[in-house]
Amino acid sequence: MKIKLAKSYGFCFGVKRAIKIAEQTRNSNTLGPLIHNKKEIERLKEEFNVGLVEDIDEIKSGQTVVIRTHGIPKEKLRKLQENKNRIIDATCPFVTKPQQIVEEMSKEGYSIVIFGDINHPEIKGVMSYAKDPVVVLSIEELEKVTLKDRVATVAQTTRKFEEYQKIVNYLMQRCKEVRVFNTICNATFENQDAARELSKEADIMVVIGGKNSSNTKQLYNICKENCSESYLIEDENEIKREWFLGKKLCGITAGASTPDWIIERVIAKIREIKV
Ligand code: SF4
Repeated sequence: MKIKLAKSYGFCFGVKRAIKIAEQTRNSNTLGPLIHNKKEIERLKEEFNVGLVEDIDEIKSGQTVVIRTHGIPKEKLRKLQENKNRIIDATCPFVTKPQQIVEEMSKEGYSIVIFGDINHPEIKGVMSYAKDPVVVLSIEELEKVTLKDRVATVAQTTRKFEEYQKIVNYLMQRCKEVRVFNTICNATFENQDAARELSKEADIMVVIGGKNSSNTKQLYNICKENCSESYLIEDENEIKREWFLGKKLCGITAGASTPDWIIERVIAKIREIKV
C-alpha cells in the first residue's frame, strides 16, 4: 500500500506562531488551550513549563499569561490587565482582524452579523468586541432577528466560503447597506483543497487532528464525501489494522493544529502494518 500526504496539511501560520511564542515565553500559563491539540499542549507543559488554566480566577496576580490563537473575550483581557498579569498575546492576526472590524463597525453604528458558532472560543472573543452582535450559522436563524438598515458582517475563520456567501446574499436582499469582510482564513482552504484532491484518488483517508478542532472535523467531512473509508484520529494509538486490508493508496492529511511529530508517528505506525 502506498502512503501519500496531502499537498498542504497540518500546522498553519497562526498555530506555528503561537507555539513559537509559548516556547520562547516559557514558565507561563495559557488561558484555555493554546491550540486545539491535547498532545501538543502536554508537550509544551513538559518541555517549556507552559501550563493550561481554564478558569481566569485561578491565575494569580503578576503571573505570565499567553493568550491563545483563538483569542479571548475583551472582558477577560481587561481582568488580566487589572490583575497585573504579564500578557503575551499569541492570538492569530487573522482572528485579531475580525475583532477589530466588529469593534470599529459597532462604533460606526452598524448591526454586526457574525457567521460562526456561538460556542467556539474564537467567536466568543470576536463577539465581545461588538455591540449586540447577531451570531448565526444559517439564514433561518438570521430571519428571526431584527437588523438595522446598515449591517457589517464577518465570518469565523474556519467557515466555508460558499456558506458565507449565502448569508451575504440574504443580507444584501434585506438591508440597504451591507459591509462584507471576508475573514475566512486561506490556511483552512489550502488544507481543504489538498484533502479534497487526495481523497478523490485514495481508497482510505486518515485525517489526524483534535476531535474538538473545527477545522479538523471539516477536513474529515470533505474526505468522507469522496472517500467513504475516511477516519479521524488523534494519534497512532487509534489506528486499526483492518482499515487497511485490500487498500492500495492511503491518503493522509492533518488539521491546522496537528504537530508534525504526531503525523510522523502515524505514518510510521501505518508502515508497520502488514496488509
Ligand atoms: S487557521 Fe488561519 S486563522 Fe486559524 S490560527 Fe491558523 S492561520 Fe490563524
